[in-house]
Amino acid sequence: MQSIFRFSKIFLVINMQQVRRKKRRVRMDRVLILIGAGILSLVLIFGAIFGIYKLINPRIIADEYGKPNTIKLETDKVNSEVYKEKNKETGEKLIYAIHTPKFKNEIDQTIEEFVNKMIEEKAIVTHIDYESNEAFSQYKSYVITATLYESIDGINPLNVVKSEQLFINFDGDTFIELDDCLRGKAISKVAKENGATEEELKLSKITQTGVEVDVLGKKVNYPYDETSFVMKNENIKTLLKGDRIEIPKREIDPNKPMVAFTFDDGPSPGNTERILAALEKVGGRATFFQLGYLMENYPETVLAVAKQGSEIANHSYDHDWLTEKSLEDAKADISSVNDIAFSLTGNEILLLRPPFGAYNTAIKEGITEKLVMWDVDTRDWESRNTESIINMTKQYTYDGAIVLFHDIHSATIPAVEQLIEYYDSLGYQFVTVSELYEVKGK
Ligand SMILES: [Zn+2]
Repeated sequence: MQSIFRFSKIFLVINMQQVRRKKRRVRMDRVLILIGAGILSLVLIFGAIFGIYKLINPRIIADEYGKPNTIKLETDKVNSEVYKEKNKETGEKLIYAIHTPKFKNEIDQTIEEFVNKMIEEKAIVTHIDYESNEAFSQYKSYVITATLYESIDGINPLNVVKSEQLFINFDGDTFIELDDCLRGKAISKVAKENGATEEELKLSKITQTGVEVDVLGKKVNYPYDETSFVMKNENIKTLLKGDRIEIPKREIDPNKPMVAFTFDDGPSPGNTERILAALEKVGGRATFFQLGYLMENYPETVLAVAKQGSEIANHSYDHDWLTEKSLEDAKADISSVNDIAFSLTGNEILLLRPPFGAYNTAIKEGITEKLVMWDVDTRDWESRNTESIINMTKQYTYDGAIVLFHDIHSATIPAVEQLIEYYDSLGYQFVTVSELYEVKGK
């Protein structure tokens, strides 16, 4: 009995203590709720004040839009402007937050024109900022982005009315365009894959891993590889051995007669240079369909052709029948010659004359080069006779004709020298096949 009572008493005491504790806890919760409500009210009040302050003070908006994203570059200084104005016509408040890089040369003017053009749009919020990037301690890239919003609500893609970018790339003090980075073959590939024209592609930025190309607003990354790049940097592999040879574009008078002399099977050191000298005398150019293995043997002659402004074209690697090869092998053959020409001159071959003029549908449809035959065969390879070559040419040549010679035959050279003088005296322009095609819209 005793023990049971004691037990009950102890139990009762414990139970009472629990009740008291519970009551105390309930009171504490109420206090916490009150404190919480207080804090919440303060947050709401300050939030509202901040919200109003934010509307009044554009600098805070500018902070929200991000501080200029910049890395330290020698020429890099930041132009930072934040201001408000009222649209005189509508009375709307307009906010401008503009961060642009600052240089000491004509780039500043390009940037200013871009900024002014965007300001002219009179959007509710005009936000211009930029990203800068340096690659291999040599290439500096700036992407300036202007985003125009139709509402004060800040960065919300739904409010964007317009977004435009300006790309600035340079190497010390030289501007860099897409064709200073990628070889022609690669540029055509990017254009083709993205359904754009080559003119629609822009170099957006140069990075440590590749170049970024802007295709009508879409960014396409082209990673560095051994065969597509022309950049001169020890970290970027290129086939190009020396400097690229710039070939100035000429004006051809479509109303004057013209002729495209073409020379197959070279380069032929000595002979080729004599033809170039004769062309140079009359300000003319011609097209040389060369063999890959001879180009490898006589790189100086290939360079002489390019430097004279004449056109280097493809006549296969070693004069094999392309029609006897699989399409894949024929393409590899053609491509190897293109790579040799590119490695020497930095320019792409656009034309192919297959050996023996032999091609099939698979080749015709499977290659990117234009197939070039001839209108006049001087049969110099057969006659090996200067007089005969001159007579054959005069007999068949007409305005706009493509004439076939071989600069490997010594009898051809004096014939060509005389024919150049002769057609020049008749007022003919000596054009490359590409020039002829361009004039004739082919
Ligand atoms: Zn040939």
